Amino acid sequence: MPCVLAYKHEWCSKVKPLIKASDGNRYCVYHAPRGEKDGLGAEEFNARIFTRISYSMQNEAEANLSGTIFEGDFSFKDLGPESGPDTEHPHCSIDFSDATFTGNADFASVQFASKVSFKRAIFCKRADFSGAIFNDTARFDYAIFNEESDFTGAFFKEQAHFFDANFLAKADFRTATFSKEVYFTLGAFKTGAVFTDAKYGARAVFKRPYAGIDKGGSKNVHLSDPEET
Ligand SMILES: [Zn+2]
Repeated sequence: MPCVLAYKHEWCSKVKPLIKASDGNRYCVYHAPRGEKDGLGAEEFNARIFTRISYSMQNEAEANLSGTIFEGDFSFKDLGPESGPDTEHPHCSIDFSDATFTGNADFASVQFASKVSFKRAIFCKRADFSGAIFNDTARFDYAIFNEESDFTGAFFKEQAHFFDANFLAKADFRTATFSKEVYFTLGAFKTGAVFTDAKYGARAVFKRPYAGIDKGGSKNVHLSDPEET
């Protein structure tokens, strides 16, 4: 029997050994609840994540990490120059959909060369994407940002999707660049969002309830009803 979540996240179906968690289910280390990862600390757990990403980069495959439950703070910078990511030639797409970032999630200045998905991801603590470069489509649909999210200076070169993304604390998009379409629809900015000096190369769609936020005054910003988008 594979991990109890392998039916949903097939990539883990061959991961061994399995861990019997306090809820009675058997999980792979990636999907085991926080604090029940066979004694692995956050650093050791992150090392496993980095190994998977490095392997995918070497094999030009997608790094599928969907549903991963992080043990603590996660900083992409810690991947280091030896194991990657090769910031000059990064090339694998990364799937963090349904992931739970239990600690701070630090993706500052990371260059995502290929598609990256944070669909339905839950950021329990701070999410730092400042200065990150998204060379391909970035998906944050249905993501939940429980604490501050920092996208200052982020560069979205392709479409950016924030459909039904919920920002429960301050969202900072100052000086971000959206070269293609960006969609902030159906979600919510609960305590304010700042888009001062953000640049829009194409259409930016904000649902009407977002009307109160500072979108930087660009003529490309449109307020749309949800049904339009
Ligand atoms: Zn699993």
